[in-house]
Amino acid sequence: MTLRSSESYDVIVCGGGHAGCEAALAAARSGAKTLLVTQSVDRIAAMSCNPAIGGTAKGHLVKEIDALGGEMGKAIDETGIQFRILNRKKGPAIWSSRAQADMDLYRRYMKHKLEATPGLHIRQDSVEGLLIGDGRALGIVTRLFGKFHGKAVVITTGTFLNGLIHVGSEKIVAGRAGDAASIGLAQFIRDYGFRVGRLKTGTTPRLDARSIDWSKTEPQHSDEDPIPFSFSNDALKQKLVPMWITHTNAATHAAIRAHLGESPLYSGEIVGIGPRYCPSIEDKVVKFPDRESHQIFLEPQGYDTVEVYPNGISTSLPLAAQHAFVRTIAGLENAEIIRPGYAIEYDFVDPTELAATLETKKVQGLYLAGQINGTTGYEEAGAQGLIAGINAALSAAEKPPFIVSRSQAYIGVMIDDLVTKGTTEPYRMFTSRAEHRLFLREDNADMRLTDLGRAVGLVGDKDYRGYLERKENLRVGLDLVRTMTFGEAGIPADLFEEKDNAGTRLTALLRRPEIEPEALSAFVPALAALPRQIVRRVGIEIKYEGYIARELRTMQDTAALDKQKLPRDFPFAAVSGLRREIVEKLTRVAPESLGQASRIQGVTPAAVQMLRIHLKSKMKQAVPEALPVD
Ligand code: FAD
Repeated sequence: MTLRSSESYDVIVCGGGHAGCEAALAAARSGAKTLLVTQSVDRIAAMSCNPAIGGTAKGHLVKEIDALGGEMGKAIDETGIQFRILNRKKGPAIWSSRAQADMDLYRRYMKHKLEATPGLHIRQDSVEGLLIGDGRALGIVTRLFGKFHGKAVVITTGTFLNGLIHVGSEKIVAGRAGDAASIGLAQFIRDYGFRVGRLKTGTTPRLDARSIDWSKTEPQHSDEDPIPFSFSNDALKQKLVPMWITHTNAATHAAIRAHLGESPLYSGEIVGIGPRYCPSIEDKVVKFPDRESHQIFLEPQGYDTVEVYPNGISTSLPLAAQHAFVRTIAGLENAEIIRPGYAIEYDFVDPTELAATLETKKVQGLYLAGQINGTTGYEEAGAQGLIAGINAALSAAEKPPFIVSRSQAYIGVMIDDLVTKGTTEPYRMFTSRAEHRLFLREDNADMRLTDLGRAVGLVGDKDYRGYLERKENLRVGLDLVRTMTFGEAGIPADLFEEKDNAGTRLTALLRRPEIEPEALSAFVPALAALPRQIVRRVGIEIKYEGYIARELRTMQDTAALDKQKLPRDFPFAAVSGLRREIVEKLTRVAPESLGQASRIQGVTPAAVQMLRIHLKSKMKQAVPEALPVD
């Protein structure tokens, strides 16, 4: 029997994955009475795939989530079992934090955080449809509880909409292994007229640690001095464990080739497009036939489990074929598979249906975040969840929206890419997607974003005090190196270059690529007294100062175009001289500003100029400014 609910909330979040958790926490923390409805409370923040947070550019997203007052950074600091900075040999702009997680601890940490948040209510149920009236979201309909009324609704249903798992020719209707697919809501979304496509992703078989011969693999340890993700943490307290490296070989590739015909990827059964940068092992063997071997990381899924995640062999081959190829790999000759690898196809909504707040253009007060928008990854999902949750709460309180721009954060780059260009394959964040990489670094995410998070009520007093202290320390450090001379610091003459003298400032030394800021600490006690991370940041700021100044000038030009807002009903067809295909593109995306219009593929600078002239002559700007100002 269906229970009828008449509860009312400010914000309702559907789905308790990585986007849903951040959305619900953000909404509740900013004062909205919030409801999280999810299929299983035991699977809140479950890691569907690899037990890891961060990685190239994903680490940047986690730092930004943290700086804005989100939870992912704190969660992984508490529950991580291995921490490393990737790309250390390259410039600091692309250093990226990555940590292995204890999956169960991570999940339990997040569930506890939700439960401990005032104003946040949780119900286990399946959302089957939405209540919509006059083009506005009014609430949701669930299978058992019935109706919940809400002023804003955030949908974060991941890979669950019409999810279909493939293992060889075996097909299972599911949201991911062990979870039911979301069919009713998927149908509702299609019926309402949202543009929906099909994507695909895959995962590896999970192995039993007791069946692995570890002596044939190489360990990879954490960094010696691991750096936490969250700016609020100075150090990590837990025991860290290694992961292990092995490789595929000619026999592995032969076994995979022998079974290719049974792969749903190659038999044409899978129609959804998969992540180009995270291909299945079948894809790797076919697309790189000359590669003799591929690296595999054997990653423990936690302290108290025998399950091991072999990173690099995502597959949808039949189980027998999975056994066959896995057992050709050094150390895995007797490996037992606990959970089969699989591929999953699912519905996603074309993200050009969304505004930069992640609100749908069709339904006011309805927000979408996470994999439903065509992205892949916990970090991408968490970042969108945070922005959607903040905006849902602001909309419920009838306050102006919160938009993070491309020049402020990777989060802004990702959302702008999605809502401007859409996506035809699972979208993953990369450093190469950002045009202002030297400015958008992991280390300065707090300086870029904490004030914005504070303004919307997400950064608590303790974290904000910590931020102000870091800001002051950074100022002190920069002043020191900008004003102190070699002579005052007592720098020995053999560190000088010919053009230097005792009156030269320390910045001249710091700009040299081979001089690390820590080296100066030996001569400058006031610098040595600052926290190590601050000294490191002083070095980065000085080394890249000239480049960053140049980036800031380009950012101002972009910001000026972004500030010229286009009303939602802007009549593109009425702009004289615009080519028909450009009008079609502009009408489809409905850009919110001249800046966004200029980033749509195929929209030429001349077309932007025509829009600008039309805007000036025909329309008065009517769209309110976003809250944060560049
Ligand atoms: P999810 O974490 O999937 O959470 C969705 C939530 O919504 C769940 O809690 C679910 O119960 C709930 N839900 C769904 N429908 C309803 C409903 N109707 N009512 C109530 N609740 C509902 N990412 C990578 O970065 N790299 C990878 O290699 C990778 N491989 C993957 C392989 C597989 C097989 C899968 C399934 C995912 C993979 N991912 C990978 C993606 C990663 O898991 C997701 O990007 C991330 O979890 C998305 O977060 P989300 O919050 O959008 O959705």
